[in-house]
Amino acid sequence: MTPSSPASAPSSIAERAAEVRARIDAACRSAGRDPADVVLTAVSKTQPPQAIDAILATGQRVFGENRVQEAQGRWADRIAGLSALELRLIGPLQTNKAEEAVALFDVIETLDREKLARALAEAAQKRGRSPRVLVQVNTGAEPQKAGVSPDATDALIASARDVYGLTVEGLMCIPPADQDAEPHFEMLRALAERNGLSVLSMGMSGDYEAAIGCGATHVRVGTALFGERNRP
Ligand SMILES: *Cc1c(COP(=O)(O)O)cnc(C)c1O
Repeated sequence: MTPSSPASAPSSIAERAAEVRARIDAACRSAGRDPADVVLTAVSKTQPPQAIDAILATGQRVFGENRVQEAQGRWADRIAGLSALELRLIGPLQTNKAEEAVALFDVIETLDREKLARALAEAAQKRGRSPRVLVQVNTGAEPQKAGVSPDATDALIASARDVYGLTVEGLMCIPPADQDAEPHFEMLRALAERNGLSVLSMGMSGDYEAAIGCGATHVRVGTALFGERNRP
């Protein structure tokens, strides 16, 4: 929390954002990394317009969203007026939403199967727009979780690139909630390295500093910036 505010008062979004950015810088320094190499993705799912206005006012321009339609509602009217805005899809994508996703997002972080690679390639062709792509890896092999299994990751990267012509930039993971995240971050880094990929989207509000220590280039932070989300 910000030292200058009374303990009982909720921090403003601007204060929270300043604190998260300071922590990112500190984590970079202690890992011997350049803070310019780590991008803060503000996870704006469920946030009302005033919260979006508040964080835009701090200069934040990179946003993560879980759902295509929800993101359209939040961003469609803002896109034209904002330079350098980058929208990243971080939630699971159904093939029947591929075209809308390609039309809206700059980066799709959740490619996890060949059928989706094909749908994205077709959508890109149709729309004349090619978002960059990350492959989501289910590092914990959790049955209920999206993501390609670690064993099948190399093959999916190869087919996404070579068969479907997608621009695969890197990997993304969401470690199991009940485990130490670092072994998962290390696994993701090793998978990226052996495939020659430079982007690592890993780390959320609870573990973004650890992720930076393990090589994250993009941290996806929601709660630490905006406060607790209203859960359905
Ligand atoms: C919601 C979400 C986040 C942000 O989580 P916080 O704990 O609120 O920071 C990050 N990544 C993904 C994929 C999410 O769905």
